[in-house]
Amino acid sequence: MKILLNGKLVPKDKAVVSVFDHGLLYGDGVFEGIRAYNGLVFKLDDHIERLYESAHTLMLKIPLSQKAMTAAVVRTLQANRLKNAYIRVVVTRGVGDLGLDPRKCPRASYFVITDNIQLYPRSLYEKGLEIITVATTRNVPEAVNPQIKSLNYLNNILAKIEAVTSGYEEALMLSSQGFVAECTGENVFIIKNNRLLTPPAHLGLLKGITRQCVMELGVARGMEVREEVLTRHDIFNADEVFLTGTAAEIVPIVKVDNRTIGAGRPGPVTAGLLEAFHDLTRREGVRYVV
Ligand code: PMP
Repeated sequence: MKILLNGKLVPKDKAVVSVFDHGLLYGDGVFEGIRAYNGLVFKLDDHIERLYESAHTLMLKIPLSQKAMTAAVVRTLQANRLKNAYIRVVVTRGVGDLGLDPRKCPRASYFVITDNIQLYPRSLYEKGLEIITVATTRNVPEAVNPQIKSLNYLNNILAKIEAVTSGYEEALMLSSQGFVAECTGENVFIIKNNRLLTPPAHLGLLKGITRQCVMELGVARGMEVREEVLTRHDIFNADEVFLTGTAAEIVPIVKVDNRTIGAGRPGPVTAGLLEAFHDLTRREGVRYVV
């Protein structure tokens, strides 16, 4: 496996960063998770755009243009001869001293990892997932805005630990006011009376690229699609619930906090959206040859 590290393709065991890198010392950096489907990088421009927006807010200067970063992703895929892949693009503040002042880090570091995609088991999509609400609330956007896709994921990791130690794979996270926000690495949708609803970003959640894509697919399928403040009650009484994310795609949820959702199995609208999503991944994206 070859990793692109600061412009050079290096073998995996040579792809190392300094212990003085502020990405490691402070989580000071940004990242993206992207997918390639059969030689097409899905929504690559949107991911690169979001990466640069996260970096802009952190006043982190990425040492190459968006166009060059796009080419860097394709180059790494080609070097690893991967037609299907999960891609991780990371930009760190770079090497500094032990203080947290970013001015001590003259140059940001970046790397691109392309790996074989670890698909969730098929049974997950067929049977649906059971999740629980956890006590750890999502970061308030006034402090650390979840819109910044930063290397500091402790908020999400704390929630994940709560879910896992309770015997569940995924956690539903609420906003500090107690409204539904998102899961640890996926956005949440409900379907109620053929309306497709998802919480608004101001509650403190990442505006997922899959989320946006699914909202557009919903509109194309004639559904009423809205961002709406949702409570747990709305989730429990939805016809269908599902999660969206680049790695997970669309995951049907059949139980939340032991309340059965709808008929207790993946619903027809979720299945239709997943099929439409797969169709899109076969048609759209930045094409490359390996
Ligand atoms: N929320 C969080 C906290 C995430 O980390 C992710 C994954 N990037 C998502 C939602 C889903 O976003 P996307 O559809 O862009 O992968």
